Amino acid sequence: MIRPGLATLSLMDVHVVRHPLVENVLAALRDRRTPCDVFRQLAHRVSLLLVAEATRDLPLADATVETPLETTTVRRLAARVVAVPVLRAGLGMLDALLELVPQAQVGYFGLERDERTAAARRYYEKVPKDLADASVFLLDPMLATGGSATMAIEGLAELGARRVRLLSIVAAPEGLAHLKAAVPDATVYTAAIDRELNARKFILPGLGDFGDRLFGT
Ligand code: URA
Repeated sequence: MIRPGLATLSLMDVHVVRHPLVENVLAALRDRRTPCDVFRQLAHRVSLLLVAEATRDLPLADATVETPLETTTVRRLAARVVAVPVLRAGLGMLDALLELVPQAQVGYFGLERDERTAAARRYYEKVPKDLADASVFLLDPMLATGGSATMAIEGLAELGARRVRLLSIVAAPEGLAHLKAAVPDATVYTAAIDRELNARKFILPGLGDFGDRLFGT
């Protein structure tokens, strides 16, 4: 199989980041024997690769610096970046974004899903105001039914966000379809589109409950 480099396979606004390092990390994340501490490192690593791809089109502004030898023109990030991890699993992706964009502001959405119905419920929200001029990155590692991601994106739109980039480590086709119907303007970056959801709305083959594996619960 021919694999492109750190490029995206673009399917409308869904970007699957194809890269050997992504595949390698996913292999270990999926393995049920991977312990919690290693799972955390791997979640960070794959998130770095997703963030690098999802920030590819951020604006730059020219500036001037003195090198030790002469004056030169450089380009610096000119975007106001807001990261919004969905509690609690999204916390496993936050440090990667802050490592690459240290000046980013951070907001939080607390969403939990009813174990019986798999419906999302919003229990906490603390997000920087006035998102109209911000590049907003929603961090939610498992896009399953799409219910919580849709709720979060709609909440961000209410706060003025014009375009939200959702970063998910694994996505289900059902979640992508739901998202496209509900919030067609959103852009999704993911490391994998898996086969389907099971009856309990877990992603197959997936990697299990991301929050439980991240926090050892
Ligand atoms: N959330 C998870 O953590 N895992 C899934 O498979 C689906 C939703």
